[in-house]
Amino acid sequence: MGKRFEVTSGDQLRCKGWRQEALLRLLENVLSVGEDPENLVVYAALGKAARDWPSHDAIVHALRTMTEEYTLVVQSGKPIGLLRTHDKAPLVIMANCNMVGQWAKADVFYELEKKGLICWGGLTAGDWQYIGSQGVIQGTYEIFCRIAERYFNNDLRGRFILTAGLGGMGGAQPLAGFMANAATLVIEVDPERIARRLSIGYLQKQAATLDEALTIIREACAARQPISVGLQGNAADVYPALLDKGVVPDIVTDQTSAHDLLYGYIPSGFDLDKAKALRQSDPDALMQASLQSIKRHVTAMLAFQEKGAVVFDNGNLIRTQAFNTGVKQAFDIPIFTEAFLRPLFCRAIGPFRWVALSNDPADIEAIDDFILTRFPDNRIVTNWIGLARKYVPFEGLPARIAWLGHGERTELALAVNQMVADGTLKAPVAFTRDHLDAGAMAHPNIMTEKMRDGSDAIADWPLINAMVNCASQADLVAIHSGGGGYSGYMTSAGVTVVADGSAAARERLALAMTNDTSLGVMRYADAGYPEALDEAVKKGLHYIRL
Ligand code: NAD
Repeated sequence: MGKRFEVTSGDQLRCKGWRQEALLRLLENVLSVGEDPENLVVYAALGKAARDWPSHDAIVHALRTMTEEYTLVVQSGKPIGLLRTHDKAPLVIMANCNMVGQWAKADVFYELEKKGLICWGGLTAGDWQYIGSQGVIQGTYEIFCRIAERYFNNDLRGRFILTAGLGGMGGAQPLAGFMANAATLVIEVDPERIARRLSIGYLQKQAATLDEALTIIREACAARQPISVGLQGNAADVYPALLDKGVVPDIVTDQTSAHDLLYGYIPSGFDLDKAKALRQSDPDALMQASLQSIKRHVTAMLAFQEKGAVVFDNGNLIRTQAFNTGVKQAFDIPIFTEAFLRPLFCRAIGPFRWVALSNDPADIEAIDDFILTRFPDNRIVTNWIGLARKYVPFEGLPARIAWLGHGERTELALAVNQMVADGTLKAPVAFTRDHLDAGAMAHPNIMTEKMRDGSDAIADWPLINAMVNCASQADLVAIHSGGGGYSGYMTSAGVTVVADGSAAARERLALAMTNDTSLGVMRYADAGYPEALDEAVKKGLHYIRL
């Protein structure tokens, strides 16, 4: 790893305060754990930390020199200026990749991107909240647990999970499957991605052929032992090949970058170099080839479903792409949010995470200990902390994710702020969450599919979420858009708040953590979900029920 992508450790400040220093370290961190940092790409093919290197360097300069009386404005990864605000205002506000409705289409995005006028922030790339594959791993693990509860007598031992994609997010799948005690086979076209997941302990084995992979899976299933195996290949070929062999896995999903037909998904018959060459010479032909492969890929997933496998879409828009190219049953495959996680989101239980800015794992361990003593009855979180401690390696700045809900997040953040103040922790801690959180995302094919009241496509909620977080003194607030082809499918909001041990941080954390989750519960209460209405009453929220 080059020096440029190292994170700073310890308690030495390069900025005028910890709030600025924290955001600078988070920016360094997303690049240090990113998939292609030389090109500022963090994950998901084009999810970038800044628009270009001059923009990156200017952001770094602004963070290093600004005082708390200013707010840095970032537009699609480019710093625009500093506005005189006040020390309770966010230090950074940003909007990434938002396009006007009728123009929010893939071809417009690619054109604007080529002109250097826009960049896609993914969810947690553009706003410097990505914490490596760990960020998505608990979500994937919880999906497997919900499937186990519903279909397999709460036990995935001896069960076979088939999936594809070992990138920034997809790379979490084999470890999540392992933790859930299943035997997981992951198809990945890029040998370097397989090598990387092997080297960081997210993947256990690599098979040279499909037959070898199946032998490993069968032996593990027979012994009821967890295993994860990577196989170099194209999912659009391997999924149908498995069907031809009469193999039906217990669970099937996919996490290739199918949201991007040009830079993400690799069509059958292509290696990375061949795809790169066609991308330059004839992008339309490459996109057509991707679509044709996705058609086969999703048709095979539907065939597995018909043969009894539990099949789900893991948030990469593959059903939408397939549907658009004529696979009319594509939406028979359910989306993971609606199928398995919505009851949690109704109570604003979602992918909350924190990052130790000291770069010392002992700080995360101290917070783990606090959680285990403070929330002993929260089975989801105590189970997760135990597993994460045992199996999840830290990448970049030590961080932890845990699906905590309304009230618990605030309580934890305030306790950690106190641990910073009294020296229990070596340096401040940044709190953040995925955009895929209760009130923070509208994506009719992922987060808000089949909402009870039909409000799937209403993007008011994430916009309100961002305004609420600005009004609640958060340190960084972002509004992102994109999804398929990087435009038109999703609007979401991100938030980061720094616990630096001060009284001001205490106020910021109390307001932002509480209001962020309150809005999440209210969003689902407004859509008529009984769990959310119950949570609103139980937690005494000022929800106005008409
Ligand atoms: P990535 O671009 O880092 O990795 C994608 C991987 O898929 C790459 O390693 C690529 O080589 C591989 N690949 C592409 N086409 C393939 C094919 N036909 N067969 C086999 N392998 C192929 O992306 P990522 O960050 O891992 O994200 C993957 C997808 O998941 C994206 O669409 C992203 O938007 C989505 N996502 C979902 C969630 C969620 O909450 N469920 C979270 C984050 C990302």
